[in-house]
Amino acid sequence: MKISDVIVVGGGLAGLMAAAVAASRKQSVTVLTYGSGSLPLASGTIDFGSLKNLPAHHPYKKIGVSNLNAAAKFLVDITAQANLPYVVGEKIPVVTAVGTLKYSALVPESMDASQLAGKKKIFVVELAGLKDFYAPMLADNLKKFFPDKTFETAKIDLHLLGGRDITCMDAAQLIADNEQPLANELKTLNATADDAIILPPIFGVMGNFSRSTVQTQIKAQIIETTCLPPSPPGIRLQRAFMKFLQSSGVKFFENTKVVRGVVEGRKVTGVVVENVVREKIFRAKKIILATGGFYSSGITMRDFDNPREPIFDLPVFFPTGAENWSNAQLFSDKPQGFATTGIFTNERLNPIDADGNVLFDNLHVVGNNLGGVDKIFERSAGGIAIASAYKGATL
Ligand SMILES: Cc1cc2nc3c(=O)[nH]c(=O)nc-3n(C[C@H](O)[C@H](O)[C@H](O)COP(=O)(O)OP(=O)(O)OC[C@H]3O[C@@H](n4cnc5c(N)ncnc54)[C@H](O)[C@@H]3O)c2cc1C
Repeated sequence: MKISDVIVVGGGLAGLMAAAVAASRKQSVTVLTYGSGSLPLASGTIDFGSLKNLPAHHPYKKIGVSNLNAAAKFLVDITAQANLPYVVGEKIPVVTAVGTLKYSALVPESMDASQLAGKKKIFVVELAGLKDFYAPMLADNLKKFFPDKTFETAKIDLHLLGGRDITCMDAAQLIADNEQPLANELKTLNATADDAIILPPIFGVMGNFSRSTVQTQIKAQIIETTCLPPSPPGIRLQRAFMKFLQSSGVKFFENTKVVRGVVEGRKVTGVVVENVVREKIFRAKKIILATGGFYSSGITMRDFDNPREPIFDLPVFFPTGAENWSNAQLFSDKPQGFATTGIFTNERLNPIDADGNVLFDNLHVVGNNLGGVDKIFERSAGGIAIASAYKGATL
Protein backbone atom coordinates (compact mmCIF):
# COMPACT_ATOMS: atom_id res chain seq x y z
CA MET A 1 0.00 0.00 0.00
CA LYS A 2 1.55 3.30 -1.12
CA ILE A 3 2.14 5.76 1.71
CA SER A 4 1.91 9.47 0.76
CA ASP A 5 3.96 12.10 2.54
CA VAL A 6 0.73 14.09 3.05
CA ILE A 7 -2.99 13.40 2.81
CA VAL A 8 -5.17 16.54 2.63
CA VAL A 9 -8.81 15.95 3.54
CA GLY A 10 -10.91 18.68 1.88
CA GLY A 11 -10.70 20.51 -1.46
CA GLY A 12 -11.68 24.04 -0.45
CA LEU A 13 -9.35 27.07 -0.28
CA ALA A 14 -7.42 25.66 2.72
CA GLY A 15 -7.14 22.14 1.27
CA LEU A 16 -6.02 23.33 -2.17
CA MET A 17 -3.50 25.70 -0.60
CA ALA A 18 -2.06 23.02 1.70
CA ALA A 19 -1.75 20.54 -1.17
CA ALA A 20 -0.09 23.14 -3.42
CA VAL A 21 2.45 24.18 -0.77
CA ALA A 22 3.31 20.56 0.11
CA ALA A 23 3.67 19.66 -3.60
CA SER A 24 5.89 22.71 -4.18
CA ARG A 25 8.20 21.15 -1.55
CA LYS A 26 8.42 17.96 -3.57
CA GLN A 27 6.25 15.97 -1.16
CA SER A 28 3.92 13.24 -2.46
CA VAL A 29 0.42 14.56 -1.87
CA THR A 30 -3.04 12.96 -2.01
CA VAL A 31 -6.18 15.11 -1.77
CA LEU A 32 -9.42 13.42 -0.72
CA THR A 33 -12.47 15.63 -1.06
CA TYR A 34 -16.20 15.14 -0.94
CA GLY A 35 -17.20 18.45 -2.63
CA SER A 36 -15.60 21.71 -3.83
CA GLY A 37 -16.15 23.76 -0.68
CA SER A 38 -16.96 27.46 -0.64
CA LEU A 39 -14.48 28.76 -3.24
CA PRO A 40 -16.97 28.53 -6.19
CA LEU A 41 -19.36 30.59 -4.04
CA ALA A 42 -16.80 33.07 -2.73
CA SER A 43 -15.91 36.46 -4.20
CA GLY A 44 -12.38 35.42 -5.21
CA THR A 45 -10.88 38.00 -2.87
CA ILE A 46 -9.06 36.88 0.29
CA ASP A 47 -9.71 38.94 3.42
CA PHE A 48 -7.11 38.93 6.16
CA GLY A 49 -9.06 40.82 8.84
CA SER A 50 -7.23 42.79 11.54
CA LEU A 51 -3.98 41.42 12.98
CA LYS A 52 -4.00 43.84 15.93
CA ASN A 53 -4.91 43.03 19.57
CA LEU A 54 -5.65 39.39 18.86
CA PRO A 55 -6.89 37.28 21.81
CA ALA A 56 -4.61 34.40 22.88
CA HIS A 57 -6.88 31.75 21.39
CA HIS A 58 -7.09 33.48 17.98
CA PRO A 59 -5.98 31.13 15.15
CA TYR A 60 -3.51 33.77 13.87
CA LYS A 61 -1.73 33.52 17.26
CA LYS A 62 -1.10 29.83 16.53
CA ILE A 63 -0.38 30.33 12.84
CA GLY A 64 1.98 33.34 13.04
CA VAL A 65 1.75 36.42 10.80
CA SER A 66 4.93 35.39 8.94
CA ASN A 67 3.01 32.40 7.57
CA LEU A 68 0.22 34.71 6.43
CA ASN A 69 2.70 36.81 4.45
CA ALA A 70 4.42 33.70 3.05
CA ALA A 71 1.02 32.25 2.07
CA ALA A 72 0.05 35.48 0.31
CA LYS A 73 3.31 35.48 -1.67
CA PHE A 74 2.83 31.80 -2.56
CA LEU A 75 -0.74 32.45 -3.80
CA VAL A 76 0.40 35.43 -5.90
CA ASP A 77 3.09 33.20 -7.49
CA ILE A 78 0.86 30.26 -8.41
CA THR A 79 -2.01 32.42 -9.68
CA ALA A 80 0.47 34.32 -11.86
CA GLN A 81 1.48 30.96 -13.39
CA ALA A 82 -2.19 30.51 -14.36
CA ASN A 83 -2.33 33.99 -15.93
CA LEU A 84 -4.57 35.11 -13.05
CA PRO A 85 -2.66 38.05 -11.56
CA TYR A 86 -3.41 38.81 -7.89
CA VAL A 87 -2.37 41.93 -6.00
CA VAL A 88 -1.66 42.00 -2.25
CA GLY A 89 -2.09 44.99 0.03
CA GLU A 90 -3.45 46.07 3.38
CA LYS A 91 -6.73 47.63 2.20
CA ILE A 92 -7.45 47.07 -1.50
CA PRO A 93 -10.85 48.45 -2.57
CA VAL A 94 -13.19 46.14 -4.48
CA VAL A 95 -16.46 47.26 -6.08
CA THR A 96 -19.44 45.17 -4.99
CA ALA A 97 -22.41 44.42 -7.27
CA VAL A 98 -24.41 47.15 -5.53
CA GLY A 99 -21.74 49.82 -5.85
CA THR A 100 -20.32 49.87 -2.33
CA LEU A 101 -16.62 49.28 -1.73
CA LYS A 102 -15.35 46.31 0.30
CA TYR A 103 -11.68 46.22 1.31
CA SER A 104 -9.59 43.10 1.00
CA ALA A 105 -5.94 42.00 1.14
CA LEU A 106 -5.47 39.60 -1.77
CA VAL A 107 -7.43 40.60 -4.84
CA PRO A 108 -7.51 39.58 -8.50
CA GLU A 109 -5.96 42.42 -10.50
CA SER A 110 -9.23 42.56 -12.52
CA MET A 111 -11.11 43.56 -9.34
CA ASP A 112 -8.55 46.02 -7.91
CA ALA A 113 -10.60 49.24 -7.75
CA SER A 114 -7.65 51.36 -6.63
CA GLN A 115 -7.06 51.63 -10.39
CA LEU A 116 -10.17 53.88 -10.58
CA ALA A 117 -8.38 56.68 -8.73
CA GLY A 118 -6.43 57.76 -11.84
CA LYS A 119 -9.42 57.65 -14.17
CA LYS A 120 -11.48 60.60 -15.43
CA LYS A 121 -14.73 58.89 -16.45
CA ILE A 122 -16.30 55.72 -15.12
CA PHE A 123 -18.71 53.75 -17.27
CA VAL A 124 -20.93 51.24 -15.47
CA VAL A 125 -22.26 48.64 -17.88
CA GLU A 126 -25.01 46.09 -17.31
CA LEU A 127 -25.94 43.14 -19.54
CA ALA A 128 -29.51 42.60 -20.73
CA GLY A 129 -30.84 39.41 -19.10
CA LEU A 130 -28.20 39.23 -16.36
CA LYS A 131 -29.89 39.17 -12.96
CA ASP A 132 -28.95 41.15 -9.87
CA PHE A 133 -26.72 43.70 -11.59
CA TYR A 134 -28.19 47.18 -12.12
CA ALA A 135 -25.83 49.83 -13.53
CA PRO A 136 -27.83 52.94 -12.45
CA MET A 137 -28.04 51.74 -8.83
CA LEU A 138 -24.38 50.73 -8.77
CA ALA A 139 -23.28 54.07 -10.25
CA ASP A 140 -25.40 56.05 -7.77
CA ASN A 141 -23.81 54.27 -4.83
CA LEU A 142 -20.27 54.35 -6.23
CA LYS A 143 -20.45 58.12 -6.85
CA LYS A 144 -20.31 58.53 -3.05
CA PHE A 145 -16.79 57.06 -3.05
CA PHE A 146 -15.63 58.91 -6.23
CA PRO A 147 -17.39 62.31 -6.14
CA ASP A 148 -14.75 63.81 -8.48
CA LYS A 149 -15.47 61.41 -11.34
CA THR A 150 -17.95 61.56 -14.23
CA PHE A 151 -20.22 58.54 -14.34
CA GLU A 152 -22.10 57.14 -17.33
CA THR A 153 -24.23 54.00 -17.37
CA ALA A 154 -25.04 51.74 -20.30
CA LYS A 155 -26.94 48.53 -21.02
CA ILE A 156 -25.58 46.19 -23.67
CA ASP A 157 -27.33 43.20 -25.16
CA LEU A 158 -25.28 40.09 -25.92
CA HIS A 159 -28.47 38.13 -26.58
CA LEU A 160 -27.76 35.97 -23.55
CA LEU A 161 -31.19 34.43 -23.76
CA GLY A 162 -31.68 31.14 -22.04
CA GLY A 163 -35.35 31.04 -21.03
CA ARG A 164 -34.21 31.53 -17.46
CA ASP A 165 -32.37 34.10 -15.36
CA ILE A 166 -28.79 34.47 -16.53
CA THR A 167 -26.04 34.36 -13.90
CA CYS A 168 -22.51 35.75 -14.10
CA MET A 169 -21.36 32.16 -14.48
CA ASP A 170 -23.50 31.68 -17.61
CA ALA A 171 -22.23 34.92 -19.12
CA ALA A 172 -18.60 34.11 -18.21
CA GLN A 173 -18.74 30.74 -19.96
CA LEU A 174 -20.32 32.26 -23.08
CA ILE A 175 -17.83 35.13 -23.23
CA ALA A 176 -14.89 32.74 -22.68
CA ASP A 177 -15.93 31.02 -25.92
CA ASN A 178 -16.05 34.29 -27.88
CA GLU A 179 -15.21 37.72 -26.49
CA GLN A 180 -15.76 39.59 -29.76
CA PRO A 181 -19.49 40.45 -29.41
CA LEU A 182 -18.73 41.97 -25.99
CA ALA A 183 -15.71 43.88 -27.33
CA ASN A 184 -17.82 45.25 -30.21
CA GLU A 185 -20.54 46.43 -27.82
CA LEU A 186 -18.03 48.09 -25.48
CA LYS A 187 -16.39 49.91 -28.39
CA THR A 188 -19.68 51.80 -28.90
CA LEU A 189 -19.02 53.57 -25.55
CA ASN A 190 -16.05 55.40 -27.10
CA ALA A 191 -14.15 55.10 -23.83
CA THR A 192 -10.49 56.16 -23.78
CA ALA A 193 -7.43 55.05 -21.85
CA ASP A 194 -8.28 57.74 -19.27
CA ASP A 195 -11.56 55.98 -18.52
CA ALA A 196 -12.62 52.82 -16.75
CA ILE A 197 -15.46 50.43 -17.45
CA ILE A 198 -17.07 48.57 -14.55
CA LEU A 199 -18.70 45.26 -15.38
CA PRO A 200 -19.87 42.18 -13.46
CA PRO A 201 -17.19 39.38 -13.34
CA ILE A 202 -18.03 37.84 -16.73
CA PHE A 203 -14.56 37.47 -18.31
CA GLY A 204 -14.39 33.70 -18.43
CA VAL A 205 -13.62 31.11 -15.76
CA MET A 206 -9.96 30.53 -16.55
CA GLY A 207 -7.24 33.11 -15.92
CA ASN A 208 -7.38 36.62 -17.30
CA PHE A 209 -7.41 35.80 -21.03
CA SER A 210 -10.86 37.14 -22.00
CA ARG A 211 -10.43 40.41 -20.12
CA SER A 212 -7.00 41.20 -21.54
CA THR A 213 -8.24 40.38 -25.08
CA VAL A 214 -11.17 42.82 -24.76
CA GLN A 215 -9.16 45.46 -22.87
CA THR A 216 -6.53 45.57 -25.63
CA GLN A 217 -9.25 46.42 -28.13
CA ILE A 218 -11.10 49.08 -26.15
CA LYS A 219 -8.14 50.78 -24.36
CA ALA A 220 -10.19 51.67 -21.25
CA GLN A 221 -9.42 49.86 -17.97
CA ILE A 222 -11.93 47.10 -17.21
CA ILE A 223 -12.77 46.55 -13.53
CA GLU A 224 -14.86 43.58 -12.44
CA THR A 225 -17.18 43.65 -9.42
CA THR A 226 -18.05 40.89 -6.97
CA CYS A 227 -21.22 38.88 -7.71
CA LEU A 228 -23.67 36.46 -6.21
CA PRO A 229 -22.78 32.73 -6.31
CA PRO A 230 -21.78 30.90 -8.42
CA SER A 231 -18.78 33.22 -8.65
CA PRO A 232 -16.46 33.22 -11.72
CA PRO A 233 -13.58 34.85 -9.75
CA GLY A 234 -13.88 32.15 -7.05
CA ILE A 235 -13.88 29.44 -9.75
CA ARG A 236 -10.89 31.02 -11.52
CA LEU A 237 -8.93 30.81 -8.26
CA GLN A 238 -10.01 27.18 -7.76
CA ARG A 239 -8.90 26.35 -11.32
CA ALA A 240 -5.55 28.11 -10.85
CA PHE A 241 -4.91 25.84 -7.85
CA MET A 242 -6.06 22.76 -9.79
CA LYS A 243 -3.71 23.63 -12.66
CA PHE A 244 -0.79 23.81 -10.21
CA LEU A 245 -1.75 20.55 -8.48
CA GLN A 246 -2.10 18.69 -11.79
CA SER A 247 1.28 19.97 -13.01
CA SER A 248 2.81 18.91 -9.66
CA GLY A 249 1.53 15.33 -9.86
CA VAL A 250 -0.83 15.61 -6.88
CA LYS A 251 -3.33 12.72 -6.65
CA PHE A 252 -6.79 14.32 -6.43
CA PHE A 253 -9.83 12.21 -5.51
CA GLU A 254 -13.20 13.97 -5.85
CA ASN A 255 -16.60 12.73 -4.53
CA THR A 256 -14.58 10.92 -1.90
CA LYS A 257 -15.89 11.07 1.66
CA VAL A 258 -13.48 10.39 4.50
CA VAL A 259 -15.42 8.67 7.27
CA ARG A 260 -12.80 7.98 9.94
CA GLY A 261 -9.14 7.99 10.80
CA VAL A 262 -6.81 5.03 11.39
CA VAL A 263 -4.89 5.84 14.57
CA GLU A 264 -2.19 4.24 16.71
CA GLY A 265 -1.91 6.16 19.97
CA ARG A 266 -1.14 9.80 19.13
CA LYS A 267 -0.30 8.95 15.52
CA VAL A 268 -2.71 8.94 12.57
CA THR A 269 -1.50 6.35 10.06
CA GLY A 270 -4.28 6.79 7.54
CA VAL A 271 -7.90 7.60 6.76
CA VAL A 272 -10.83 5.47 5.60
CA VAL A 273 -12.89 6.60 2.65
CA GLU A 274 -16.31 5.34 1.86
CA ASN A 275 -17.38 4.76 -1.70
CA VAL A 276 -20.48 3.11 -3.09
CA VAL A 277 -19.22 -0.47 -2.86
CA ARG A 278 -16.58 -0.62 -0.13
CA GLU A 279 -14.28 1.23 2.21
CA LYS A 280 -10.66 1.94 1.35
CA ILE A 281 -7.72 3.04 3.49
CA PHE A 282 -5.33 5.75 2.34
CA ARG A 283 -2.07 5.96 4.29
CA ALA A 284 0.23 8.91 4.88
CA LYS A 285 2.96 10.21 7.19
CA LYS A 286 0.97 13.40 7.85
CA ILE A 287 -2.71 14.35 7.61
CA ILE A 288 -4.07 17.87 7.03
CA LEU A 289 -7.72 18.26 8.06
CA ALA A 290 -9.24 20.97 5.85
CA THR A 291 -12.90 19.98 6.05
CA GLY A 292 -14.32 23.48 6.39
CA GLY A 293 -16.08 23.57 9.74
CA PHE A 294 -19.89 23.96 9.83
CA TYR A 295 -20.10 25.27 6.24
CA SER A 296 -18.87 21.99 4.73
CA SER A 297 -19.78 19.38 7.40
CA GLY A 298 -16.25 19.43 8.78
CA ILE A 299 -18.18 19.99 11.99
CA THR A 300 -21.73 18.68 12.37
CA MET A 301 -24.38 19.10 15.05
CA ARG A 302 -27.14 16.51 15.28
CA ASP A 303 -28.13 17.46 18.83
CA PHE A 304 -28.14 21.05 20.07
CA ASP A 305 -25.14 21.93 22.21
CA ASN A 306 -23.27 18.88 20.86
CA PRO A 307 -21.25 19.81 17.77
CA ARG A 308 -18.88 17.06 16.56
CA GLU A 309 -15.91 16.63 14.25
CA PRO A 310 -17.02 13.43 12.46
CA ILE A 311 -13.70 11.91 11.20
CA PHE A 312 -11.42 11.86 14.29
CA ASP A 313 -14.09 12.80 16.87
CA LEU A 314 -11.95 15.76 17.89
CA PRO A 315 -13.18 18.00 20.72
CA VAL A 316 -15.12 20.97 19.34
CA PHE A 317 -15.21 24.23 21.28
CA PHE A 318 -18.43 26.21 21.19
CA PRO A 319 -20.44 28.67 23.32
CA THR A 320 -22.79 26.50 25.41
CA GLY A 321 -26.39 27.56 26.00
CA ALA A 322 -28.90 28.80 23.44
CA GLU A 323 -28.56 32.36 24.80
CA ASN A 324 -24.90 32.41 23.72
CA TRP A 325 -25.50 30.74 20.36
CA SER A 326 -26.59 33.73 18.32
CA ASN A 327 -27.35 37.44 18.57
CA ALA A 328 -30.88 38.75 17.99
CA GLN A 329 -29.81 40.17 14.62
CA LEU A 330 -28.06 37.99 12.01
CA PHE A 331 -26.12 40.96 10.66
CA SER A 332 -25.33 42.35 14.10
CA ASP A 333 -22.52 44.58 15.33
CA LYS A 334 -20.86 41.78 17.23
CA PRO A 335 -19.60 38.25 16.49
CA GLN A 336 -22.09 35.37 16.39
CA GLY A 337 -21.53 32.69 19.04
CA PHE A 338 -22.21 29.75 16.72
CA ALA A 339 -19.63 31.06 14.23
CA THR A 340 -16.82 30.73 16.80
CA THR A 341 -17.42 26.98 16.98
CA GLY A 342 -14.39 24.99 15.99
CA ILE A 343 -11.30 23.02 16.91
CA PHE A 344 -8.51 24.44 19.06
CA THR A 345 -4.90 23.64 18.30
CA ASN A 346 -1.38 24.19 19.56
CA GLU A 347 1.23 26.14 17.56
CA ARG A 348 1.81 23.10 15.34
CA LEU A 349 -1.92 23.14 14.50
CA ASN A 350 -2.29 19.76 16.24
CA PRO A 351 -5.74 19.36 17.81
CA ILE A 352 -5.84 19.79 21.61
CA ASP A 353 -8.36 18.94 24.32
CA ALA A 354 -9.78 21.30 26.94
CA ASP A 355 -6.64 20.85 29.09
CA GLY A 356 -4.34 21.65 26.18
CA ASN A 357 -3.20 18.07 25.66
CA VAL A 358 -2.20 17.21 22.10
CA LEU A 359 -4.39 14.45 20.64
CA PHE A 360 -2.49 13.59 17.43
CA ASP A 361 1.10 14.64 16.62
CA ASN A 362 0.91 14.27 12.83
CA LEU A 363 -2.61 15.67 12.32
CA HIS A 364 -2.85 19.40 11.46
CA VAL A 365 -6.18 21.27 11.51
CA VAL A 366 -6.57 24.19 9.06
CA GLY A 367 -9.07 26.62 7.57
CA ASN A 368 -12.65 27.02 8.67
CA ASN A 369 -12.31 24.11 11.13
CA LEU A 370 -10.30 26.39 13.43
CA GLY A 371 -12.42 27.73 16.25
CA GLY A 372 -12.45 30.64 18.65
CA VAL A 373 -13.40 33.52 16.32
CA ASP A 374 -16.27 34.53 14.02
CA LYS A 375 -14.19 34.67 10.82
CA ILE A 376 -17.06 36.10 8.76
CA PHE A 377 -17.70 38.91 11.25
CA GLU A 378 -14.02 39.86 11.50
CA ARG A 379 -13.49 39.21 7.76
CA SER A 380 -10.53 36.91 8.26
CA ALA A 381 -11.82 33.63 6.79
CA GLY A 382 -9.70 33.56 3.67
CA GLY A 383 -6.56 34.78 5.44
CA ILE A 384 -6.88 32.14 8.17
CA ALA A 385 -7.54 29.50 5.48
CA ILE A 386 -4.41 30.20 3.38
CA ALA A 387 -2.08 30.97 6.33
CA SER A 388 -3.01 27.90 8.38
CA ALA A 389 -2.80 25.74 5.25
CA TYR A 390 0.64 27.15 4.45
CA LYS A 391 1.86 26.43 8.00
CA GLY A 392 0.28 22.98 8.11
CA ALA A 393 2.01 22.03 4.85
CA THR A 394 5.44 23.29 5.92
CA LEU A 395 5.49 21.58 9.34
C1 LIG B 1 -20.62 32.81 -0.25
C2 LIG B 1 -19.26 32.94 0.39
C3 LIG B 1 -18.51 34.10 0.16
C4 LIG B 1 -17.25 34.24 0.76
N1 LIG B 1 -16.53 35.36 0.49
C5 LIG B 1 -15.30 35.50 1.06
C6 LIG B 1 -14.51 36.66 0.79
O1 LIG B 1 -14.89 37.55 0.07
N2 LIG B 1 -13.27 36.73 1.40
C7 LIG B 1 -12.80 35.75 2.22
O2 LIG B 1 -11.69 35.87 2.72
N3 LIG B 1 -13.54 34.63 2.49
C8 LIG B 1 -14.77 34.51 1.94
N4 LIG B 1 -15.52 33.39 2.20
C9 LIG B 1 -15.03 32.42 3.16
C10 LIG B 1 -13.99 31.55 2.58
O3 LIG B 1 -14.26 31.23 1.30
C11 LIG B 1 -13.89 30.30 3.40
O4 LIG B 1 -13.93 30.60 4.69
C12 LIG B 1 -12.64 29.62 3.22
O5 LIG B 1 -12.59 29.39 1.90
C13 LIG B 1 -12.61 28.35 4.04
O6 LIG B 1 -12.02 27.39 3.34
P1 LIG B 1 -11.89 25.89 3.84
O7 LIG B 1 -11.06 25.23 2.81
O8 LIG B 1 -11.48 25.84 5.25
O9 LIG B 1 -13.38 25.30 3.84
P2 LIG B 1 -14.33 24.92 2.63
O10 LIG B 1 -14.15 25.83 1.50
O11 LIG B 1 -15.67 24.81 3.23
O12 LIG B 1 -13.83 23.46 2.14
C14 LIG B 1 -13.98 22.30 2.93
C15 LIG B 1 -13.81 21.10 2.03
O13 LIG B 1 -13.81 19.89 2.80
C16 LIG B 1 -14.61 18.92 2.15
N5 LIG B 1 -15.04 17.94 3.14
C17 LIG B 1 -15.77 18.16 4.26
N6 LIG B 1 -15.93 16.99 4.95
C18 LIG B 1 -15.29 16.03 4.22
C19 LIG B 1 -15.10 14.63 4.38
N7 LIG B 1 -15.59 13.97 5.45
N8 LIG B 1 -14.39 13.94 3.44
C20 LIG B 1 -13.86 14.60 2.37
N9 LIG B 1 -14.01 15.94 2.15
C21 LIG B 1 -14.71 16.64 3.07
C22 LIG B 1 -15.73 19.74 1.53
O14 LIG B 1 -16.38 19.05 0.51
C23 LIG B 1 -14.93 20.94 1.00
O15 LIG B 1 -14.34 20.64 -0.24
C24 LIG B 1 -16.76 33.22 1.62
C25 LIG B 1 -17.50 32.05 1.85
C26 LIG B 1 -18.74 31.91 1.25
C27 LIG B 1 -19.52 30.67 1.50
